[in-house]
Amino acid sequence: MTDTPTQLFIGGAWVDAADGATMAVDDPATGEILCHVADAGPKDAQRAEDAAVAAQEKWARTAPRARSEILRRAYEIIVERTDELAHLMTAEMGKPLAEARGEVAYAAEFFRWFSEEAVRIDGGHGTLPDGRNRMLLSRRPVGPCLLITPWNFPLAMGTRKIGPAIAAGCTMVLKPAPQTPLSSLALAAILKEAGLPDGVLNVVTTSRAGEVCEPLLRGGRIRKLSFTGSTGVGRLLLAQSADAVVRTSMELGGNAPFIVFEDADLDKAVDGAMVAKMRNMGEACTAANRFFVHTSVVEEFGRRLAERMGALIVGPGTRDGVDVGPLIDRNGRGKVEELVADAVERGARVLVGGRTPEGPGSFYPPTVLTGVDSGSRLMDTEIFGPVAAILTFDDEDEVVRRANDTPWGLVGYVFTEGLDRALRVSERLEVGMVGLNTGLVSNPAAPFGGVKQSGLGREGGRVGIDEFLEYQYLAVPVG
Ligand code: NAP
Repeated sequence: MTDTPTQLFIGGAWVDAADGATMAVDDPATGEILCHVADAGPKDAQRAEDAAVAAQEKWARTAPRARSEILRRAYEIIVERTDELAHLMTAEMGKPLAEARGEVAYAAEFFRWFSEEAVRIDGGHGTLPDGRNRMLLSRRPVGPCLLITPWNFPLAMGTRKIGPAIAAGCTMVLKPAPQTPLSSLALAAILKEAGLPDGVLNVVTTSRAGEVCEPLLRGGRIRKLSFTGSTGVGRLLLAQSADAVVRTSMELGGNAPFIVFEDADLDKAVDGAMVAKMRNMGEACTAANRFFVHTSVVEEFGRRLAERMGALIVGPGTRDGVDVGPLIDRNGRGKVEELVADAVERGARVLVGGRTPEGPGSFYPPTVLTGVDSGSRLMDTEIFGPVAAILTFDDEDEVVRRANDTPWGLVGYVFTEGLDRALRVSERLEVGMVGLNTGLVSNPAAPFGGVKQSGLGREGGRVGIDEFLEYQYLAVPVG
């Protein structure tokens, strides 16, 4: 912690907020203050934007190989410092160290992937239908970007945006979540060490997100917004982006259905449920929110899931053997408590968990609810906690209809041993991603993203860099 930067990173320099403001970063396991970081205001954001705008033209002309090698070096430094970064992440966010190490590896992979993509940006040449005119197509960086990230994956949500932006030749202002600024500041230091030129990445930590971001979005110099966070905030930022017609990518909330058919392999289904529900203590956009289990297997599935969930060890993420850390803060926990209370009031049975422990921190136990009424609030709210809510169904058409009956469409999970059914149901689900007999879909080589109110655009995969590139078409008449 002692070496972790706590100032703003602007134009390649570490600086205090112009008005000297700072904000506290808390440890969710104890509720105590870990440290203070600079709390940027609109003036600081303006300076960060100035630095990004000033660096853009030269950076766009940098050789793709040079951009690629910066990313590759940063990837290697991140991997070398896995332990240090994992401890930092656990301190500010709470997830157990093993999960934090997993996130460091996942985050680093975005840099490796996009270091490989930086040198594969293609163009095109063609003869137009009249046979005379030629078309030359080139791809260029979209320009200075504003990147806004959430607290739940503090490192990976940053690298998933910064990686393709660097590869494409864009400059950036990054605004991380106020709960978890340290991982982003550590990442900026690593990129500087890897040779990223001054001004290409600027990081503003702030507790005044609206005041800091809105002028940038409306000002006309930022050309791209890449946002990961809740659908409500995404909607607001889309409206703010409309004034200056800023290009946007939106990775928003989810309400994932997890469907277990009568012909599912229950070992696979329970393993998949543990990952889809418990990765990141349930604080993931991909978290299974609604478990639809066929009536004929619901009892067995519920019993086995409750047994596995009940065996998990809850405690501070730094303690050996802990599986489940604290939730991000008491507000987050309060929301989970309310959702469980509402479901129980409407008739749900608690198979395991459901009771908030005494003591410091924001811990909540792994919980399984069965017999959940479809009118319960947790059916149309992201739970964002370690609570599995089980409902039953009897036939395929019915479960597809209920799974799709939500404004979100990020991911769905399907468990069946029938290939026909697996493909048919996957195709009918209104989601951007499907986990077929698996509870994990995230992979830097795959396009991540949702449909409906879960977002616009994709991050990662071959298409991830497209979000940061524009086509330019050159018309050339040939006599
Ligand atoms: P959030 O409240 O929407 O905040 C996300 C980020 O937006 C934070 O940095 C936040 O800063 C900032 N923000 C909020 N209001 C803003 C404004 N008016 N102008 C500019 N920035 C603003 O979400 P969260 O609670 O941090 O994260 C959880 C949500 O993220 C869930 O809905 C989850 O599903 C979603 N998520 C989606 C994905 C995906 O890939 N689809 C991945 C991870 C998480 P402040 O906190 O200071 O307001």
